Amino acid sequence: MDSLKAVSSMKTVDEALQLVGQHAAQLAPMRVRLRDALGLVLAADVTSDVDSPPYNKAMMDGFAVVASDRSPTRTIIESIMAGDVPRRPIRPGTTARVMTGAPLPDGATAVVPVEQTELVDEQTVRLEWVDPPPGKHIMPQGLSMSTGQCIAQAGTVVNSVVMAILAEAGAAVVSAVPRPTVSVLTTGNELVSVDERPAAGQIRNSNGPLLESALLERNCTPNVLPSGRDELHELVELSQQGLDADVLLVTGGVSAGVKDLVPAALSAAGVEQVFHKVALKPGKPLWFGIVPRENGPARLVFGLPGNPVSGLVCFHLFVAPALAVLAGRADSVVQRLATGTAAGEFSYAGGREMFRPAYVDAQHRVEMFPWHGSADLAGMARANCLAHLPESGIELAAGQRVEYLRLPGSEPPK
Ligand code: AMP
Ligand code: MG
Repeated sequence: MDSLKAVSSMKTVDEALQLVGQHAAQLAPMRVRLRDALGLVLAADVTSDVDSPPYNKAMMDGFAVVASDRSPTRTIIESIMAGDVPRRPIRPGTTARVMTGAPLPDGATAVVPVEQTELVDEQTVRLEWVDPPPGKHIMPQGLSMSTGQCIAQAGTVVNSVVMAILAEAGAAVVSAVPRPTVSVLTTGNELVSVDERPAAGQIRNSNGPLLESALLERNCTPNVLPSGRDELHELVELSQQGLDADVLLVTGGVSAGVKDLVPAALSAAGVEQVFHKVALKPGKPLWFGIVPRENGPARLVFGLPGNPVSGLVCFHLFVAPALAVLAGRADSVVQRLATGTAAGEFSYAGGREMFRPAYVDAQHRVEMFPWHGSADLAGMARANCLAHLPESGIELAAGQRVEYLRLPGSEPPK
């Protein structure tokens, strides 16, 4: 009976994802200083408070002239550098020396590049090009952006180019969806940190660094808690600390062992279970719950399997898309799988839907390199995708169609 119950409460990947999607919602926008906005999604349109360029601008070092003037020599009435303000208008027979970026004086309708001129004396220049078309080498005021114009729409992700445009437009503070804050709690009596040598029975904690860096790769703010021992009261206390954040990720202690105390600890910390266990390989023990919040979306809590590859697969399938929704980068947790072809023969016996570490090359050939299962982190060092294999199992022949989920942050194929 018990095992029947366990099977019937197990969610399919799609059901589990749908449940995560029901609780993941965009975080409330905040006012953010521009220099803190890298990677954030703008929550409101941004308009410029200036024209760009702010004046008719010289785009070459040369001489500002009246375009219709045909006289071969001109009297130089002033020199204008970037940052200067022109004082005298240009008329036929006269010119001003201008540097790239300088404002053009009134009356100037073209710039003759310095390479096409010859100085006769301090005050006189001879032009080798007397008939430049009107507007030549001039960028008119407001051509790039004009005052009051929307220069970045709500929904835009602030990358370095957007950052520069916002800086030019005077947007010192912007309204943006904040970075999700994410607590990371690893659990297990066996865990020691990277700077320790594991004693008998111990292993190094790889899930902590895995999740912290995966969160940084996604522009989230990780808060790594001290690793928890398999003691209920300790796990309750650490979970409570972790619930400061928008999302809490706990690893280990969610399968069926006697020391798998995480679901009980999370309940005691006030987290409502939404589901436990997914028909997924690797990643079956996944636990998901929420803590409703009055103002804003619920805090999301994921109990990830302790085996690093299982945890990583659950992170990519469930956590990462939820984070994208929180950050305003996606409307839904559903991720599109890409389609490629099997690089060679491969057989999967089936049983659960599988997302298997694999390598996809530039021709979308998916290679199932040797890999020893959910605890084999080193074996998946080459992975840049997860190949999607059906619950029914499959005998793949080389060239046969196979779907995959690309792992962001992995090297592009060589
Ligand atoms: P658990 O779900 O706690 O039973 O853990 C499953 C397996 O994952 C065990 O072999 C653990 O030793 C291993 N494991 C759990 N947490 C970590 C971690 N933070 N880093 C590396 N391996 C872990
Ligand atoms: Mg454990």
